[in-house]
Amino acid sequence: MAEMDQIRIKRLEVFARHGVLPKENTLGQKFLISADLYCDTRTAGKTDDLKDSVNYAEVSERIKESAQEKVFSLIERLAEYVAEKILIAYPQVDKIRLEIEKPWAPVQLPLETVSVRITREWNTAYLSLGSNMGDREQYLKDAIALLEEERTNVTAVSDFIETEPVGYTKQAPFLNAAVALRTLRSPEELLELSASIEAKLGRERVMHWGPRTIDLDIVLYGERIIQTEALTIPHIEMAKRLFVLEPLAQIAPYAVHPAFHKTILELRDALLP
Ligand code: ADP
Ligand code: MG
Repeated sequence: MAEMDQIRIKRLEVFARHGVLPKENTLGQKFLISADLYCDTRTAGKTDDLKDSVNYAEVSERIKESAQEKVFSLIERLAEYVAEKILIAYPQVDKIRLEIEKPWAPVQLPLETVSVRITREWNTAYLSLGSNMGDREQYLKDAIALLEEERTNVTAVSDFIETEPVGYTKQAPFLNAAVALRTLRSPEELLELSASIEAKLGRERVMHWGPRTIDLDIVLYGERIIQTEALTIPHIEMAKRLFVLEPLAQIAPYAVHPAFHKTILELRDALLP
């Protein structure tokens, strides 16, 4: 893939008080902040209009403000903080590469500078939702509304489709849906959000695969493959479940399962009679 367009800010000088030593927090020192903003500059490239671009003067001002807002011990924390502020304030920026140099760092040896460099970006994730208790449609709508927050946007919602229960079949039919998210949350942080929404909407874990007001499963997170105690992504059962693939095919037909190398359409069609 071709490299994305970038707007680059190089070594913006900011005076701030970050550091582990108390004297750093009182005296302060110079930090040099560089940011590569990955965003599509084509429209601005055609129109020659600042409104169609990311204003680097404004971004520089915001970097400076957010770097001076708090006092952190570590430049790792500072970098995380500033990167997130910029990604949230400028939705056109898909990704930021941020470097923070601390040329006056208290190291008792001759060195030019020390720095931390991070890359943070908006990720695409897909969730599968299901409800088979009470007002199922309302539970789905409430869950979708609760997914929307500063660090997460809902970018697509499938139809709500009714499906028969799988596994434990002596329970009411489900209403299922799929949603696409643009998120700054890590997979683990997204699972936390899902669990908090399930709790808020009165989900009680009585039996595995049993009736529930709402279930939110992370189906895909970009092209990541994750296998930890708390989390398996892609969702371990997704390729076997029409109630996941049918709504997902509406909003992400060509998303690719990163382990099976098949599109959602291919996975779904393999399950059709
Ligand atoms: P199920 O979704 O299979 O009906 P639960 O919703 O009760 O079951 O989930 C049980 C656990 O599954 C969760 O606590 C979570 O840690 C784990 N889990 C593993 N992978 C995922 C995933 N991709 N999405 C959501 N939960 C997951
Ligand atoms: Mg679940």
